[in-house]
Amino acid sequence: MNILDIIYKKQCKEVLSKEEIEYVVSGYTNGLIPDYQMSAFLMAVYFVGMTEEETTMLTLAMRDSGDVVKLGDVKGYKVDKHSTGGVGDKTTLVLGPMLAALGITFAKMSGRGLGHTGGTIDKLEAIPGFNTQLPIDKFKENLNKIGIAVVGQTGNLAPADKKIYALRDVTSTVASIPLIASSIMSKKLASGANSICLDVKVGEGAFMKNIDDAKRLASLMVKIGKNAGKTMSAILTDMSSPLGNAIGNTLEVIEAIETLKGGGPKDLEDLCSNIAAILLMDANKVENFEDGYRMANETLHNQEAFKKFEEMVEYQGGDVSYIVNPNKFEESIYQKNILSEEEGYIKWIDAFKLGEAALRLGAGREELGAPIDFSVGIKLIRKPGDFVKKGDVLAVIYHNEKGINEAKKLLAGAYSYSKEEVKTKLILDIIR
Ligand code: URA
Repeated sequence: MNILDIIYKKQCKEVLSKEEIEYVVSGYTNGLIPDYQMSAFLMAVYFVGMTEEETTMLTLAMRDSGDVVKLGDVKGYKVDKHSTGGVGDKTTLVLGPMLAALGITFAKMSGRGLGHTGGTIDKLEAIPGFNTQLPIDKFKENLNKIGIAVVGQTGNLAPADKKIYALRDVTSTVASIPLIASSIMSKKLASGANSICLDVKVGEGAFMKNIDDAKRLASLMVKIGKNAGKTMSAILTDMSSPLGNAIGNTLEVIEAIETLKGGGPKDLEDLCSNIAAILLMDANKVENFEDGYRMANETLHNQEAFKKFEEMVEYQGGDVSYIVNPNKFEESIYQKNILSEEEGYIKWIDAFKLGEAALRLGAGREELGAPIDFSVGIKLIRKPGDFVKKGDVLAVIYHNEKGINEAKKLLAGAYSYSKEEVKTKLILDIIR
């Protein structure tokens, strides 16, 4: 087999065989295929695309390039959830404890964030002592004992994806639906759950800027997962504005705690209850979606989800006193109110600009491995649909020395208003 023939075949819009796809993935991972040839291959895929079968084969080849976690010795029905990435997205911190409180095993391996705010792992590490690097035996032990563990991906999970993603990043080939689908699903299929729910974000703050592309990506990932024997679903959710009110690691942990006690923002509570309902149906715990939604939502108001979160923090070495008393979290040195310069209904708050602002403040990382300032971020006081007068406080920027001027500028340009009343819609579609 020859890489030049394979690149040419793809350029001619022909369908690649399993052997050819495996040859490309293993050749590149092992260093036999150089970056310049892999770049040409990725660019051919970017322009020509791949069939569902080709994309499934690419996904499986990337999954099998490293460790595949087996959860056969973990009791219960194992579920996982993945978000394609949004601003203010702390869903995992709320959803996991809700499900575990209802007897579903929530086994999550999560990534670190690059850009905007930190990923789930960074958010959890804002809790002093919290260990996200559990060895696999301890991960399974926690799952068996308390039904929940959230850890960082092991270094050898889908190494082919790690290498290919880094190359896509510098060759402008990230925004390709088959490449995104195979990248996400290779890691999901390597991490061992029975059922996976994908939260595909749509809008300015997301990879997928419009609903049609988001549907295409979601349907493809659902099919790949099913082809690999998993129970699959995808929920398409609006990310034109941030989720919840808090953006930034500590602020998001505090908001998750409030939500786990039934006092969080309604959009976050609604999203978590929707995803939980889907997964409760997959696990045959409920007969219909409405029962699942009600049952899941109840865990936020009867403190069961909060108790489970406390337990998870304790089992992963975190200081539970911060969960019991969130005032203990270190605050940023300064807070700056952002005032409305217009009167009207807020139409949307550009999630991308707010993510950028949080990044400038130091809430996310601009380079791999860079440190994060957990205490900085943004708290939205008003959300889309709210009526504001000139001079009303729209948001508070929590900051230290870095990035405040850029953040203020970004926030000033992030709000869009309407004279008419504005209705918002969070859940755009569900694909099964
Ligand atoms: N997230 C991933 O893991 N891979 C992509 O290609 C895009 C988002």
